[in-house]
Amino acid sequence: MIMFQKARIKLTAWYLLIIMVVSLTFSLIIYRVLASEVERFSRIQRFRIERNFSGISITPPPQFSDPDLVNETKQRIIVALMMINGSIMLFSGIFGYVLAGQTLKPIADMVDEQNRFISDASHELKTPLTSLKSAFEVFLRGKNQHISEAKILITESLAETNKLQSLSESLLSLTQYQKTHGGTFHETLALREIIQTAVKKISPLAKLKQVSIVRKETTSSIYGDKYSLIDLVVILLDNAVKYSPKKSSVTIRTQKTKSGISISVTDRGAGIAKKDLPHIFDRFYRADEARSQTGTHGYGLGLSIAKKIVSLHKGTITVQSAIGKGSTFTVQLPEKHPDILQAAFRKTG
Ligand code: ADP
Repeated sequence: MIMFQKARIKLTAWYLLIIMVVSLTFSLIIYRVLASEVERFSRIQRFRIERNFSGISITPPPQFSDPDLVNETKQRIIVALMMINGSIMLFSGIFGYVLAGQTLKPIADMVDEQNRFISDASHELKTPLTSLKSAFEVFLRGKNQHISEAKILITESLAETNKLQSLSESLLSLTQYQKTHGGTFHETLALREIIQTAVKKISPLAKLKQVSIVRKETTSSIYGDKYSLIDLVVILLDNAVKYSPKKSSVTIRTQKTKSGISISVTDRGAGIAKKDLPHIFDRFYRADEARSQTGTHGYGLGLSIAKKIVSLHKGTITVQSAIGKGSTFTVQLPEKHPDILQAAFRKTG
């Protein structure tokens, strides 16, 4: 906040400096022009008066060509210009301060967001690291430990390390997608292939939970980045399987709609409470309901990555859910990239 205030004052000072340099330069020019005009006028006046009085042998009264009058007029011009410059300085100071605030606000918001991200991420990393560290310390302090105990510790630590690895991978992809285009390469793709690859990636987990994945697809193509679209479907399928009870089914449906292509993933899992629905796309948000019922572990990053991918593709993601009945996540994507659509429109139009 202090940094923002300092930057705001600095920017205001720069705005003020630029405006005052321009204003003072113009004032100087105006003064020069007006002063020379006053002198010219006074010279002409004196010349006329001297000509009029030359017939009569009296000297013209002093007030007709008083040099003090010229000086006084010059003084008045200076005072007027100083007052104008003072008002400009005051107004541009206030206006500049407001403008500097508005210019810096998006940058300040971005810095705030990044700081929050770093502190959230560090918090998430700290907990498993602390538990790993204390487990190792306790083991080292003990005497005559058996190899079987060491094996248990290593197995547990490995599970914790796997979680840490998946957290760091999620954090990496979130930051990657946060960049404007995230290094994505958009092309026309076969949707079927994307679903196929995503289902393949999820099938070990689905098999473990005996969850069947039902595919209801209408073949179509989609414009986008292959790897991010696969990531998107994997996230939705992974959640659907994770939050489903054993031996249930998850349906993935693709359809052509008026506005493009829709991909929806439906599960018969725990569902999401109404109070959680507005937040599930937020970073690190985890609703308790689903997790307590299924005993799953997550970092609350999947859906925020999904949202970033969808927005990179100029699409939308929505959710419908009922507690105890299940959830449906629907992604709407344009079939073609909006720029391509516009170009085609311009050609025909
Ligand atoms: P997580 O890694 O915790 O699954 P996500 O960002 O993918 O993180 O999801 C955020 C939260 O939304 C989850 O913690 C869970 O409570 C809820 N959620 C997401 N998908 C589902 C689903 N299919 N069924 C029930 N709850 C879900």
